[in-house]
Amino acid sequence: MLFTIHSLKDRKIEKFYNSAIKELNSFYRVDWNRNKPKVFLISSREEFDKLYGRKTEEWVVGTTLGSSHNIYLLSPDVYESESNHKYSDEEYEALLKHEISHLYTRTFCKQYQPLWLIEGIAILSSGQLERKPAIKQFENFLKYFNEGGPGLYGESGYAVELLDKEFGREKLLKFLKLINGVTDEDDFKKLFKKTFKIELSYDWFNKNI
Ligand SMILES: [Zn+2]
Repeated sequence: MLFTIHSLKDRKIEKFYNSAIKELNSFYRVDWNRNKPKVFLISSREEFDKLYGRKTEEWVVGTTLGSSHNIYLLSPDVYESESNHKYSDEEYEALLKHEISHLYTRTFCKQYQPLWLIEGIAILSSGQLERKPAIKQFENFLKYFNEGGPGLYGESGYAVELLDKEFGREKLLKFLKLINGVTDEDDFKKLFKKTFKIELSYDWFNKNI
């Protein structure tokens, strides 16, 4: 399939981009200054689906398509007409940061497992957690290792925030490196226990909530 591209000047989005890079550099303790992420703004759901390779749900507004350098967002101009989201600058800035955060995570570990950890880090580092309703109990994020679902985004940011708070950023980032290439859930659990000295279960998370 063929696509055309053209470059774009947009001061607002560029501002979002620059602060995202600055804050994510700080979150991930790296200095990404060469071959920086590229942002592609997609002009319609139809084009988004063609790029994606399938029909996407109406809440899907951004993706990396598994890339290490590019993110693809539904353009702000069609954000409301082509999705079920309400546009606000705050939401769009957080979305941009969330997708770029996935690129940063990918420099530590290449695979997209476990979903709760990868999405949780993106939610935490993008500031989206502050926009999410608080939770009373952890009860479903661990289900999302290989496959997503409706509960994935509700708890995972809070779960990762707890790990970050209790064990520190350095350990969290070290853990990301350690699990690079690990796609088996049991292997992941073993590395989790080895690193954090706790079993991966809801008990610990609920005790520390
Ligand atoms: Zn994500």
